[in-house]
Amino acid sequence: MSDGPRVAVTGTPGTGKTTTTTLLDGPVIHLNDLIREAGLWSERDEGRGSLVADLDAVREAVGDWSGVAESHLAHHLDADRVVVLRCRPDTLERRLRERGADEAKATENAESEALDVILSEAVERHGLDSVYEVDTTDRTPADVAADIEAVVTGDRGPSAGDVEFTDYL
Ligand code: ADP
Repeated sequence: MSDGPRVAVTGTPGTGKTTTTTLLDGPVIHLNDLIREAGLWSERDEGRGSLVADLDAVREAVGDWSGVAESHLAHHLDADRVVVLRCRPDTLERRLRERGADEAKATENAESEALDVILSEAVERHGLDSVYEVDTTDRTPADVAADIEAVVTGDRGPSAGDVEFTDYL
């Protein structure tokens, strides 16, 4: 058995999961790297130019994990606490374009963010008491990392539904 809570950090691509979890003290499982390196995918999504992860294989590969795991798929793992990073859709779209995403992908992710898709999935699977929503808009990665740390240490209570982006639809 491993010690400590299992903290999954999820969110729409571009919300800052990679950037912020890299600032944390402890080890972090970067699930997307694992999926790519260990071949834990079942098919290619040609339209999106991405891999479709085999979630059962991912769960088996991480096994009895602890600490922090990050990915837009992290909420599909068993976890004790789930951090959902959020970002205002127009800001998210800009972040994605700045890192080279094509127009269609940036728009699709901004719409998904406005519709609370990942938040809803996280609440459905883990329940309101295990979900910690953190708005990253107009904040620094260091501030967001401190919020994630507070979830890990138990110094922050659960919250979901405080962030509202439907105006951007
Ligand atoms: P993800 O892993 O969720 O896809 P990344 O960390 O790869 O996101 O990219 C997020 C981008 O947004 C980076 O270019 C980062 O510099 C930028 N960014 C701006 N503000 C923040 C913030 N407060 N938290 C995290 N990332 C931010």
